[in-house]
Amino acid sequence: MSLSFEIRNFLKAKLRTGPRFRAMLSQFQASGQLGGAQLADWQWQHLQRTLASAYRNVPYYRQLFQQHGVHPDQLHSPADLRQLPITEKSAIRADPAQFLHERHRGLKFRAQTSGSTGTPLTLSRDSHSVNAENAFLWRFWLSHGKQLDSRRATVRADLIADVASQRLWVYNRFQRELLLSAFHLSDAAMGRMLDKLTAYQAYDLYAYPSTAYVLADYAARSGRELQFGAVFTSSEQLFDYQRELVERQFATHVRDWYGQAERVAAIAHCRHGRYHVQEDYSWVELLPVENGEHEVIGTSFFNHLMPLIRYRTGDRVLLHDDACPCGSAFRSIKAIAGRTAAYLLTPDGRKVSLVNHIPRGVPHLIEVQFVQETPDALCLRVVAEAGFSAQDGAMLIQRARERISTDMHYRIEQVPLIPRTAAGKFMPIIALPAAPSGGQA
Ligand SMILES: [Zn+2]
Repeated sequence: MSLSFEIRNFLKAKLRTGPRFRAMLSQFQASGQLGGAQLADWQWQHLQRTLASAYRNVPYYRQLFQQHGVHPDQLHSPADLRQLPITEKSAIRADPAQFLHERHRGLKFRAQTSGSTGTPLTLSRDSHSVNAENAFLWRFWLSHGKQLDSRRATVRADLIADVASQRLWVYNRFQRELLLSAFHLSDAAMGRMLDKLTAYQAYDLYAYPSTAYVLADYAARSGRELQFGAVFTSSEQLFDYQRELVERQFATHVRDWYGQAERVAAIAHCRHGRYHVQEDYSWVELLPVENGEHEVIGTSFFNHLMPLIRYRTGDRVLLHDDACPCGSAFRSIKAIAGRTAAYLLTPDGRKVSLVNHIPRGVPHLIEVQFVQETPDALCLRVVAEAGFSAQDGAMLIQRARERISTDMHYRIEQVPLIPRTAAGKFMPIIALPAAPSGGQA
């Protein structure tokens, strides 16, 4: 265990025990209950601060406002924001310095999107943004039964530095967190990990959906029982088949959080297991595109060091058409897709990024990846249990044909494993090389 590991985690723990954290958390716990005019007030106040600061201090936005003949004082409601064009990721890549607050004083935190398929993007955050993110995440975790001092087991690839070592876990005493390596998920290693997890008794497992799934699958195959108060996932598209197995095997609920390194939108599960746009986190526009999908465009509330206004995330959602039984005024989302902005392109020109319902109900499947090989051919890369039959394969193809396109050729390729990205992430879709696809944190 390195000294920097100790120091980093000591500081992280400090972040969430300090008075500033407590104040922010209780503020967000209150704003999480808002609706109607009070929510609108909250949003407009935060939006105005972002717009005014961006106009005063950020060269890119000052120019953009001027080019479009807009002054922040002339904007009277969030709807007026549409007088400004959408900010594309490519604009940041072209000249990131133009997006920075010219007179910023205080700490700067740099973050890089993984750029799994695209060019990485470097982002800067101020300490207010770092604190707010932390408080919003804790609001989410606490709403699902976690306590500030609960034990946690984490299996997220970016947290274990030394992959050459045979060490499978490391304990972070400052945050009562057992960090397990997501790069060692062989059966033998997982056997040892489950022993450790049984002894450790964490309240929650914090993982990528694909990692939680691989652990649950091993637990099922080896007849092991393990229980968590909650399994928290984020950073990848959550598939129904993953959620179902993890919930069954670990006798709990999977609670997913969607966000992105740009921090312009957050969507999280409520206690009824439905996604809600976190309306007090940022200003989120859902613009209708095709197939009933909406594109997520977001404006940050909390990062004045590098504010993003009407930023195109490249991610898409399907809306719920009825109110959630939890009673939240926050918009309810049925599914989130394209976290990597990857999509399949059909011969009739449709872009299909929502694929997580396709493998549903097909027996013996472990994982599926949709690989577009040519404009009219798809390969379904499958990791399957021993019992996987030609019939199961035919069922998968039939479901894909009905949901993607009847005008494409499909084939199944069985593989022992589906490679992860450099950041350890599972990619549900591999697009044609010509189709745009962006990275995500
Ligand atoms: Zn709800």
